[in-house]
Amino acid sequence: MALEVTVKTAGDVPIPDHSFEAERNQYHSTKILKELVRGAPPDSLKVLGVIEKDLCIPILTFVYGEAQLNGIGALVSLARLRQEFYGAQPDDDIFRERLHKEALHELGHTFGLIHCSLVECLMYLSNTILDVDRKGRAFCRHCQRALNSKIEPGRVSKWTGR
Ligand SMILES: [Zn+2]
Ligand SMILES: [Zn+2]
Repeated sequence: MALEVTVKTAGDVPIPDHSFEAERNQYHSTKILKELVRGAPPDSLKVLGVIEKDLCIPILTFVYGEAQLNGIGALVSLARLRQEFYGAQPDDDIFRERLHKEALHELGHTFGLIHCSLVECLMYLSNTILDVDRKGRAFCRHCQRALNSKIEPGRVSKWTGR
């Protein structure tokens, strides 16, 4: 097991205009994340946004995603997960594998997990698509244990609205 929780698909969330960085032709992930969290259903344990747009933050040329450490919000961009982005033929299996890894990585942060030095672990930091591809598709024992302690019944953090 990696992360066993009930998942509900919510509707589309509009991308806030002020998140567009015209000079970079990218979107500021932190601003989108904020909107995502604000619009989350009140009973949400966590909310995961999936976006087509390429994301960035001021100090990085791009990010695959962003999450609130110990918060509820996580955001993943599909833009750089597709083979086409790198000039290769489309490959749905590779695309899904990358999305699986990056979505669980960002959700891991919302459960308080920080980056892990083990390349076999989902919480390994990916700076390039090669990092995404070579890291494992599960949490290492240490990270899984930390995660389990956060999702034990009764220890689930309550929605606070912020
Ligand atoms: Zn991370
Ligand atoms: Zn780990």
